Amino acid sequence: MPLVLRVDVDKPYGNSNFFNAVRSKLSENYWYPDWVLFNRNYLSQLARFIQHCNNEKISGHFYFRMCTIPNQHITQLMQEGGHKAGVHLENTRDFSTFKSEYDNVAKHCTIELSSITKHGSGKLKLGKHHYPPYEPDKYRKWADEIGVDFRFGNELCTSSEDFIGNKNFYPKIFWIEPDYRDESFSSLEELIESAKNNLVPVLIHPSNYDSTKNVKEDFMKLIALARKNDIDWVL
Ligand SMILES: [Zn+2]
Repeated sequence: MPLVLRVDVDKPYGNSNFFNAVRSKLSENYWYPDWVLFNRNYLSQLARFIQHCNNEKISGHFYFRMCTIPNQHITQLMQEGGHKAGVHLENTRDFSTFKSEYDNVAKHCTIELSSITKHGSGKLKLGKHHYPPYEPDKYRKWADEIGVDFRFGNELCTSSEDFIGNKNFYPKIFWIEPDYRDESFSSLEELIESAKNNLVPVLIHPSNYDSTKNVKEDFMKLIALARKNDIDWVL
């Protein structure tokens, strides 16, 4: 059985230093696409991450927010790697706020959008446009209504049994960022064992891959372990 890669593109300028973190936060709250899409450093951390995936021949599902809409360079890299794109939802208060956000992202994207995920843990409010509750039943209904997939849930996996029966929806996910994993299920070796019998979803944020040494190291380790154990990456 394979691994499935989910990539949440949360930060327009990453978080590798104070300046970039502040810049990302401002853009998240006061979205201004007209000049941002032409900025040289915009999504540069994502470009490095996609290059890495493309070199390793791994395709994934990438989720974009209003503040991280893919520019031409990112779109080209996504197409070269055969990746899929979707919308990372913030304002999920009701169908109309969801639809208006989805349409806004779609309007500025030149890449096809095929699915949705929800931003945040379900508790903290993460910015001006963010509606914190995590309500998967609502998103499933809305996804059906507009004809896209809702495949990845936001719950954290706590044991290898969490992946049993995964087919069209993966409620629980394994974080490639070591600091966000559940203590009871945090080893990459155990994860690979699970992937021998189940479809296993893993999540990474390009800004953390770019700014945090152990995130990039664990991504590389997971790729190596998958290769060694003949585990494929699928879409
Ligand atoms: Zn997010």
